[in-house]
Amino acid sequence: MAGANSVRLAVLPGDGIGTEVTEATLAVLEPLAQRHGLGITVETLPAGAFHYRETGEAFPESSFRAARAADAILLGAMGWPGIRYADGTEIAPQLDLRFRLGLYAGVRPVRAIPGVPVALADPRARDIDLVLIRESTEGLFHSRGKGLVTEELAEETLRITRATTEKLARFAFRLAERRAAQRGRPGRVTLVDKANVFRAFAFMRGVFDGVAKAFPDIASGHHYVDAMALDLIRRPWDFDVLPTENMFGDILSDLGAGLVGGMGFSPSADIGDAHAVFQPAHGTAPDIAGKGIANPTATLLSAAMMLDWLAARGAGQAYADAATELEAAVDAAFGEGLRTADIGGRDGTAAVARAVADRI
Ligand code: ATP
Ligand code: MG
Repeated sequence: MAGANSVRLAVLPGDGIGTEVTEATLAVLEPLAQRHGLGITVETLPAGAFHYRETGEAFPESSFRAARAADAILLGAMGWPGIRYADGTEIAPQLDLRFRLGLYAGVRPVRAIPGVPVALADPRARDIDLVLIRESTEGLFHSRGKGLVTEELAEETLRITRATTEKLARFAFRLAERRAAQRGRPGRVTLVDKANVFRAFAFMRGVFDGVAKAFPDIASGHHYVDAMALDLIRRPWDFDVLPTENMFGDILSDLGAGLVGGMGFSPSADIGDAHAVFQPAHGTAPDIAGKGIANPTATLLSAAMMLDWLAARGAGQAYADAATELEAAVDAAFGEGLRTADIGGRDGTAAVARAVADRI
């Protein structure tokens, strides 16, 4: 496809509801692309647990290369109970992408969507609009699968590097600037750590504070992770951008999802210097796969993040406009009564896609 603003999109549907939510999302992207004149070429690539069972390969090198060559990657979900690698580990090509493409920033927005029940009774919970940034290549996951285990002890490593922390902090402050401009209010970045106990986190704070000096218009601060767990329940509406270590981010982002309607409403992006993968925060949900009831909202919102990221990387303002419209269409659909099964309603995967597409 020609044109200054044309992009190549690699789609990895994966397993279980991954295939269902990506199909619904592509069905919405089509009219959206048409309306905004986006030249999006889609290439669907095989990978995942069922592909492994059929072929002995979970992530063919050809799929990896095509994904790496694309401008953006949209992923459903991968993995399946009972299908594992020969060594017993889970099939997770999404982790291969994260490490091989250096996707250090795991961006997990936590936003109350109009009409979708929130977990807190306080009316201010309708204003929840924060974003966790989970460092995704080091931290407490550093020795993942390679920790020392003997009969008598097991040891894993916490690793924080200056280079990755600087990139993560810069990413957080730039995101805060973008959000402040979009929302017309001041931005704030709060590093979540455990600097009172671990020297590694005191080091992380020092590096973070150094980067903060370059962003005088954005307020910056720190919060201990245990206090953050409490405050994400007590006053989540007070927070804006929250960068944190890998494992803390893993845990807090599930807590965040629980605040605003569950996994079906939680988008994510894994972003590096040159590549990015956009996917729902949930897994393949074997318990509901194949029934047509999976909620595709998390994937739709991930696609909106993708369009916004493409715009920021020079694909053109039309991509940013499309992102805004997609998010607004999701909000309008739920605000006007759309109810998926995970929040006690009857609207299935295709009904959500139709309701959102109708508002574009
Ligand atoms: P993973 O190990 O990949 O994180 P998981 O075991 O944590 O996966 P999920 O697949 O995320 O589990 O599912 C957790 C629960 O949430 C399941 O009961 C599932 O049915 C439900 N769920 C997840 N995603 C959705 C969705 N998009 N729509 C409706 N329900 C969902
Ligand atoms: Mg999980």
